[in-house]
Amino acid sequence: MVSQKIKTEEFWNPEHVVEKFWNGLKEGVIYAKKCSNCGAVEFPPHLACNTCGYPETEWIQLTGKGKLKSFVFTGVLNARLELEDRGLKYVCGEVELDEGPSLNAVILGINKKKGREIEDKLPVRVRPVFYDMGEYTTLFFELDE
Ligand SMILES: [Zn+2]
Repeated sequence: MVSQKIKTEEFWNPEHVVEKFWNGLKEGVIYAKKCSNCGAVEFPPHLACNTCGYPETEWIQLTGKGKLKSFVFTGVLNARLELEDRGLKYVCGEVELDEGPSLNAVILGINKKKGREIEDKLPVRVRPVFYDMGEYTTLFFELDE
């Protein structure tokens, strides 16, 4: 029988995880959770491990570097209005971080021409961009070239 004893105060206070994550981005730090049992990295951070279900995880920092494996140009249905409003060129794509986790992310600075250029070169290296949206800072990526 698995012990039900939870040691972390975060379990009782889930907003701590969310708050720490977003405060981290404001300071240019990417926080994730690492499972104390199987070592899987959870990003965005979760309280418990999604891989093995173990309830104890520890905070780690990610470099935010990784590779862009695939991307799509956005259309009417999946456009990010907050980015369109700022006149940014971007695509949405799958980024695999060097530490393991993959995420769907926004990659800035890619117009149609650039997109065609990198299409045949995938995966390509990307680095993090801590983007100030005014009320909060969010994590985007850009080509690391
Ligand atoms: Zn685990």
